Amino acid sequence: MIGLFGGTFDPVHLGHLDVARAARRALNLDRVWMIPAKFPPHRGRPLATEADRVAMLTQAIQDEPGFEISTVELDAPGPSYTAHTLARLGIDGSALDRWCFITGADAFSDIATWFDYPALLDRCHFAVVSRPGCGVHALPAALPSLASRMVPAGENPVSAASRPGIFLIDAPTAPVSSTSVRAAITRGLPLTGLVPDAVADYIASHRLYLEAHGR
Ligand code: ATP
Ligand code: MG
Repeated sequence: MIGLFGGTFDPVHLGHLDVARAARRALNLDRVWMIPAKFPPHRGRPLATEADRVAMLTQAIQDEPGFEISTVELDAPGPSYTAHTLARLGIDGSALDRWCFITGADAFSDIATWFDYPALLDRCHFAVVSRPGCGVHALPAALPSLASRMVPAGENPVSAASRPGIFLIDAPTAPVSSTSVRAAITRGLPLTGLVPDAVADYIASHRLYLEAHGR
């Protein structure tokens, strides 16, 4: 099974890698595709160029076997709606043992605002990984209409599931956001413990985010 991990990755940071690793381990994923958004709906455009965001992802996953980058969203016109991305990849709910879309718990808690909700949840499994300050335990109560589909990862083998599930993964991830990384850069602080060293080197040598003002 392949995990699809969408994000702005502006820039990619250690929390993102923890999410992808946690989902991979919990669901025994063969591969994880990191899918940078062209520009995400409901928020401003990314500050770094597409080329820089892909280059930083390339640096971040260089020592992670099984991790790949998919440019499916960058190659498509318009904003990056997950429902469109899944459709573009041919994911229509008919091959449940092949695909799982990965999000953090903060992103998933907004799922009812996503384009084509709730139908997009029928296209593939979803895996939701806890984020510091945003556990997965609160999700069934926060999203009661989806509660019956939520399963703690590990209780049921995902490959045997007969309908698209929402797998909850309670795992520690680094307490980092891209916003906090950009804020550290504008203040001239070191990025140790926030992004992989190779990403920090790329940001420094390309002088990225110096004018971000912590957006
Ligand atoms: P920003 O501060 O710009 O919103 P971000 O750090 O939230 O950036 P995104 O690219 O918006 O990163 O997030 C992509 C996905 O990664 C989302 O599903 C989000 O929930 C998840 N995610 C990001 N950081 C973490 C983290 N530290 N722990 C768990 N999930 C995370
Ligand atoms: Mg975010």
